[in-house]
Amino acid sequence: MDSFSRALDVAHDHAMGWLDSLGERPVPPQASVEEVIMALGPDLPQRGCPPEEAVALLAQACDPGLTAMASGRFFGFVIGGTHPAALAADWLVSAWDQNSGLRTLTPAHSAVEDVASAWLLDLLGLPIESAVGFTTGATMANFTGLAAGRDAVIRQAGWDVARRGLAGGPPVRVLVGAERHDTVDVALRYLGLGAPEVVDVDDQGRIRADALELALNRGDAGPVMVVLQAGNIHSGACDPFAETVQAAHRHGAWVHVDGAFGLWAAASPAYRHLVQGYEAADSWATDAHKTLNVPYDSGLCIVRDAAALQAAMGAHGAYLVRDETCQPLDKVPELSRRGRAIPVWAVLRCLGRDGVADLVERLCRHAAMFADALRTIPGVTVLNDVVLTQVCATFGSDERTDEVVQRLLADGTTWMTGSTWHGQRILRISVSNWSTTEDDVDRCVAAVRRVAREVG
Ligand SMILES: *Cc1c(COP(=O)(O)O)cnc(C)c1O
Repeated sequence: MDSFSRALDVAHDHAMGWLDSLGERPVPPQASVEEVIMALGPDLPQRGCPPEEAVALLAQACDPGLTAMASGRFFGFVIGGTHPAALAADWLVSAWDQNSGLRTLTPAHSAVEDVASAWLLDLLGLPIESAVGFTTGATMANFTGLAAGRDAVIRQAGWDVARRGLAGGPPVRVLVGAERHDTVDVALRYLGLGAPEVVDVDDQGRIRADALELALNRGDAGPVMVVLQAGNIHSGACDPFAETVQAAHRHGAWVHVDGAFGLWAAASPAYRHLVQGYEAADSWATDAHKTLNVPYDSGLCIVRDAAALQAAMGAHGAYLVRDETCQPLDKVPELSRRGRAIPVWAVLRCLGRDGVADLVERLCRHAAMFADALRTIPGVTVLNDVVLTQVCATFGSDERTDEVVQRLLADGTTWMTGSTWHGQRILRISVSNWSTTEDDVDRCVAAVRRVAREVG
């Protein structure tokens, strides 16, 4: 017991020191990979050390090389911090060490997963009969939903993928918007489906319903999947679900929605209209480690037809060969996995329905504050309609924008990502952290203003 206690005490002290530093420390890392390797010591020692010494060395060596992604001033990529309830629950996940694949093996984790799944379907307004798989992230949630869809549309064409494989079977058309996330293509590649057919989008990156209808009409009546998006990583825009899901279903298509962060719009009465009609789709992917602020890695795949998910992911791989109750391992690619549902449950229990809505609304309010403030900086144009958590701005020319992005990183007050959208270099601000305050937003806007003035 003593060795657990000493090692956990060291970890706790360092964790508290780290969290305490987030308020003021620079957001970008202050050490390179090579410097951290040297601090860790590159050579495998012949003789080991007590657990607490290994943990102390790790914490000390890593500290300068850590990026303050959990800081309220981090607005890079589309990633969030960790909520206290989720972080503490995640420590219990490691302490409890439950292999959570089978219900009889861990009734506790299965119960938490059942309750969290039901709450998620309720919050997101998705069909209550859906199965929920706890994946590593939205990439694997996209993979899982699309695997269920691929097998289902091929099955409808009279071919059993599980038994016969893809070769020789009917080809599957996959239609996607021009601004889908790259991980959709990755998932399709893993699934042996190759590159998708690209459908035109509008000025906010939303798939055009008329273009989708045309594309659907163009093909033969074979197996089809349509991938829609809730939350464009640049504009935050959501596809027009009401029309597109209906059109896709008229053509017998499986409709998958990638909503890694945008799906959470559904949890707020003020933003639910953005995803209106998406509940008619067949599968949905989202992250818990983005908007819900649980630790990595935590994604969610939701599939309306639980049997289709089990056929694609389950150990048996046959449609309608079902256990009484679907096992957790039948809903995700992995057999063994950690108790990922536990931090999800903890943050939902802590926030409650109102707290989740409030979280979503606060993130959006901070994005709107950023947009309003950026518009007052000379030379700045906000390119997107700020409907959710994403803000994209240019600083007059590509060179000037890149210079601002670079200097902002050197300044260290905040981290915002440089990107390219619609042929222009941009500064992208993605608000994903529960702990960001209006004061953080003001400080970061001041940094952008300062840097823009320096660049001239
Ligand atoms: C982040 C993101 C993904 C990938 O999610 P991971 O959790 O990083 O695997 C997919 N789609 C969209 C729209 C995203 O924002």
